[in-house]
Amino acid sequence: MDPTVVRRIPRTDALLAEPRLSAAARRLGRDLVKSVIVAAQDRARRGEIAPEAVADAAVAALPDTAGGLRPVINATGVLLHTNLGRAPLSRAAREAVLAASGATDVELDLASGARSRRGRSALDALLRRVPAAEAAHVVNNGAAALVLAATALAARREIVLSRGEMVEIGDGFRIPDLLVSTGARLREVGATNRARLDDYAAAVGPDTGFVLKVHPSNFVMTGFTGSVGVRDLARLGVPVVADLGSGLPAPDPVLPDEPDAATWLRDGASLVTASGDKLLGGPQCGLVLGKADLVERLARHPLARALRVDKLTLAALEATLRGPETPTRRALHADVRVLRDRAEHIAQKLRAEGVDAHAVDSSATVGGGGAPGVALPSAAISLPESYAVSLRLGSPAVVGRVENGRCLLDLRAVPDEQDAALTAAVQAAGEV
Ligand SMILES: *Cc1c(COP(=O)(O)O)cnc(C)c1O
Repeated sequence: MDPTVVRRIPRTDALLAEPRLSAAARRLGRDLVKSVIVAAQDRARRGEIAPEAVADAAVAALPDTAGGLRPVINATGVLLHTNLGRAPLSRAAREAVLAASGATDVELDLASGARSRRGRSALDALLRRVPAAEAAHVVNNGAAALVLAATALAARREIVLSRGEMVEIGDGFRIPDLLVSTGARLREVGATNRARLDDYAAAVGPDTGFVLKVHPSNFVMTGFTGSVGVRDLARLGVPVVADLGSGLPAPDPVLPDEPDAATWLRDGASLVTASGDKLLGGPQCGLVLGKADLVERLARHPLARALRVDKLTLAALEATLRGPETPTRRALHADVRVLRDRAEHIAQKLRAEGVDAHAVDSSATVGGGGAPGVALPSAAISLPESYAVSLRLGSPAVVGRVENGRCLLDLRAVPDEQDAALTAAVQAAGEV
């Protein structure tokens, strides 16, 4: 290391006083800006940048927000990617979150000045979307909805569940373990591949809290299989809790095999539980829909307080339900010809810049959030594999998928208003 170079590197105090960096310190916090400055000084010490360039390098490296989570363009072709936060919020939902982020009337009736039921208008919006439900309650996520149902309706009692529906939902978490953790006992019925109504009938008794139907939302079974639908389970004379998972409010012709809340409730489910951030396209939350007396028992249970959602979630959920079509629904219903045109257009632009890019046909999926085994026709931009890493490290980060030695950027989950940002990100990644 050249000592004269080291001596010319500006000191931290001097850099913190530099107008752009001191403004950043007021906005983002002094510690965060200091760490960015120290990293830039280190680069100068290693000879990667000139000492005179330290301030500019620090300014360039400043994050947009003080939060550590970075925006990502989801070019994986997986619409609901759990590692990318599942459903992206609509613009209406983002604006509602911002509006509710200060003090807000989440539990106050501004007309009378009296306390009101928390999240009343979000619940109203939910009931308007699923009129087959008498009442609704919202908790932190789908798993919380199940835990609340099990605790309030089946603690120290039995939950009757088919062996074919003992699902692992992801990251090692299993629905049967979750249920047992509430103090409920599991009464397993049937075999892995088949269960009949008789199996359930033989298991139901005075100890039954409820019969649970779980949608196998992340796998399919084929061959010699059979399961009992909600309509038949509803004839057993005990409450049926149906865990929908994917949260489709009503049938969707694009996903003919995916169950939905309206149908299951009409078929006789006492309660339907679902996630808000899967096919509904909203924020992370858990929905409980169904019979008024049971929903009330869940909402009044002491555990409900521990699973309560915050105002930001309620704001986003309501705007998702009342607002325009969600990004998730748009992605699901996108016309593949339009996706191909977009891919062709972007690839052409990139080729004009000397990038080895071309449009290819691709296949997208809904993801762990629903519709297992469904392939959605899509289009992608094919790039050299080396782009994958630099795109992930860019700003915004772009996550594609690597297939047969190429980096594919699948457009089905990319809203068209992000095409320009995606193109610019590829150009920038090609320059590093
Ligand atoms: C996703 C899912 C869950 C868990 O919901 P989270 O919102 O992730 O907690 C439970 N059951 C089924 C069937 C699911 O698909």
